[in-house]
Amino acid sequence: MNKILIIEDEIAIAELEKDYLELSGFEVEIESTGDLGLKRTLTEDFNLVILDLMLPNMDGFEICKRIREEKNIPVIMVSAKKDDIDKIRGLGLGADDYMTKPFSPSELVARVKAHLARYERLIGSGTKENEVIEIRGLKIDKTARRVYLNGEEKIFTTKEFDLLTFLAENPNRVYTKEELFRDIWDMESVGDIATVTVHIKKIREKIEFNTSKPQYIETIWGVGYRFKV
Ligand code: CA
Repeated sequence: MNKILIIEDEIAIAELEKDYLELSGFEVEIESTGDLGLKRTLTEDFNLVILDLMLPNMDGFEICKRIREEKNIPVIMVSAKKDDIDKIRGLGLGADDYMTKPFSPSELVARVKAHLARYERLIGSGTKENEVIEIRGLKIDKTARRVYLNGEEKIFTTKEFDLLTFLAENPNRVYTKEELFRDIWDMESVGDIATVTVHIKKIREKIEFNTSKPQYIETIWGVGYRFKV
């Protein structure tokens, strides 16, 4: 599971970035001050950091330098000023990429994916294989949190992925919507069992050839859902 930290004091920008990254299946956290952002980067397991340059308490120059002293995770630095970007490039702080605000969220997502892929290749060589579930053309890569149907990648949100994986790991067992809601969504979540129905529908749209005749997730009328193997 790829976790991303956005260190950004402009909340509207941070939230926009977060929305787009979550839609691409990443888990995203936001910190709006420099010192806390650095602290969390160093103490928690983030796979990538999106770092704004001008921040309260500690600026992006200092944060990038301190991250590099301890970690080699990808760092994407962003700034509103083109001149600043040129300057930080020249300083050789060790950031992996630089973007000038405003940028398109989809470009950010593309760069995040590219850096994570490169980083995974870097650290992944020689390590153990990904944990994969494969059923009739459906491949769930639990390690990379990616889903493929007949070799084609399907983009899943975090909860859609969790729900599909949970059902696929417990096949031929009927789960009620209440059970699924309890297992997949944590206690703080707003929502109810209708959330489960909505997510099942979205998953089917991605993996079923005919959503009214599902071959993976069956509806057991009046009870719940079952993953068929
Ligand atoms: Ca700022």
